[in-house]
Amino acid sequence: MEFTLNKALFIDLDNTLIKTISGKTFPLGISDWKLNEALLPIIERAVKRNYIIAIVTNQGGIEEGFITEAQFISKLDDIIKELIKKLNKYKGVRIVSEYCKSYKEVYERKPNPGMGYAIALDFNIDMKNSIMIGDREEDKGFADNCNLTFYNVLSSSLETLFID
Ligand SMILES: [Mg+2]
Repeated sequence: MEFTLNKALFIDLDNTLIKTISGKTFPLGISDWKLNEALLPIIERAVKRNYIIAIVTNQGGIEEGFITEAQFISKLDDIIKELIKKLNKYKGVRIVSEYCKSYKEVYERKPNPGMGYAIALDFNIDMKNSIMIGDREEDKGFADNCNLTFYNVLSSSLETLFID
């Protein structure tokens, strides 16, 4: 069997891949989201280069009772569908996701590396040559713990990412 290493673009969800429509930090309901348009060109360039898009998100709000797990799964499904719609000119786009529903410091919760390693094992990810985009310290910590190169979603250096 041929063994191929893949590269991945890991992306945090809240305030990175999506923003609230309301402008609030925390969504007012499960429909209070829109794709972060500024990130789409970067995701497109990553897809063109065969990167797997890997959404990794802490969703402690599930265990805290702010959103049910079923509601979150449905929301994530809608987000991925919308993203695929935006990327549908690129055949073979691969989008995977992991979420952590615990608000405790478990192995799966960023900044711990559990979600990253789960995806790395499933999809043979070459972490050293992969990238993480996020908005918080926990995302930076996750990137460090997974040996990924980190970019803050607000960083101007993102504009030149995947451009030679
Ligand atoms: Mg975030």
